Amino acid sequence: MSDTKYGFTTTIVHNDRRKTVEQGSLHKPVHTSVAFGYNDARQLASVFQGKEPGFRYGRQGNPTVSALEDKISKMEDGVGTLCFATGMGAIGALFQALLKSGDHIVSSSFLFGNTNSLWQTVAGQGVDVAFVDATAVANVEAALTPHTRMVFVETIANPRTQVADLARIGQLCRERGILYVVDNTMTTPYLFRPKAVGAGLVVNSLTKSIGGHGNALGGALTDTGLFDWSAYPHIAPNFRKQPPQAQGLAQLRAKALRDFGAALGPEAAHHIAVGAETLALRMERTSSNALALARMLEADERVAAVHYPGLASHPQHGIAQELFRTGGSLLSFELVDAIDCFDYLNRLQLGIPASNLGDTRTLVIPVAHTIFFEMGAERRASMGIAESLIRVSVGIEDTEDLLADFRNALDA
Ligand SMILES: *Cc1c(COP(=O)(O)O)cnc(C)c1O
Repeated sequence: MSDTKYGFTTTIVHNDRRKTVEQGSLHKPVHTSVAFGYNDARQLASVFQGKEPGFRYGRQGNPTVSALEDKISKMEDGVGTLCFATGMGAIGALFQALLKSGDHIVSSSFLFGNTNSLWQTVAGQGVDVAFVDATAVANVEAALTPHTRMVFVETIANPRTQVADLARIGQLCRERGILYVVDNTMTTPYLFRPKAVGAGLVVNSLTKSIGGHGNALGGALTDTGLFDWSAYPHIAPNFRKQPPQAQGLAQLRAKALRDFGAALGPEAAHHIAVGAETLALRMERTSSNALALARMLEADERVAAVHYPGLASHPQHGIAQELFRTGGSLLSFELVDAIDCFDYLNRLQLGIPASNLGDTRTLVIPVAHTIFFEMGAERRASMGIAESLIRVSVGIEDTEDLLADFRNALDA
């Protein structure tokens, strides 16, 4: 929050009011107009030419979406943010706007399943992807080539909770002048700001904890201002006219958002903005619930393994403690062989079998049979995904109710 003396939540809940207030609205109004009219045709032309600020057409920008973008920039302490229809829309934009055939990227192999699938797709379109165990910077360094344009990692990997060697990878990227992209979805800007470890671009799926109620899809890319775009080879001459800090987002807005069209709708932006007001409160609650649940499961002999960065037994517990405010709201665990994971899930009364994260309700999913089914057993094994792995997105329920639910399902 570099431009204000206020804390995280104060800044978010007062941000709309500190901008252009419309009719005293404390929330940014939902602007559904696709077109934006001008009395003076010359002004329309000058907005089109980027000579003055203004909206042109809903696919490239909208006042309600723009208010949300501003809030996310504040949360991430960035210089600008672009919103997309989904988190995958934001990640896809990296490929659409910033990579060309012959480029190379290094990606953590511990990844959200659809990001993994996307990298397989781009590999078929001329961009070479090296998957590495990003919990150690040496693996990233060994994979770099003269054509490496980007290093991509998640903070806490979904679903196995490996924590990338975030600060050392940031240092390496800075030394080599490589764009460092960090998917901050699992930690959210309340637990961690990737800018602190040198990220140039930050990805957030707004669908998850930032929106926080499972009622709207959305994604965002935030430019932290740390990356020197004047040294990036693929910025088109048109965008070189912008100040160096603005070139990346300018190209992303035109080449990805405008040309590929994954624009966030104003109603979804409103839902996400309202949800984001309580991000800090929810993350405190879901994190303390997750820690209590992880400790209970770890102490139970019917549970074979628990993966949660807040546990001392987690391999990257030290890094998580140093960098993140809490261990987060995601954990995963494996039952002993004698217990069928489907039977167990069916005995839960509160944990809901469903595919989403960061909701107020606790959601559970048998990973190998659902979200990671398509990739096959071999790739699952390489990502550390056991066939019985259960992912839990911990909600804001009362702690005792939640613990009792997971315990009762073991006892039954
Ligand atoms: C869900 C998720 C995404 C994709 O977000 P959508 O909004 O579902 O498209 C990307 N990265 C991570 C880590 C996620 O959990």
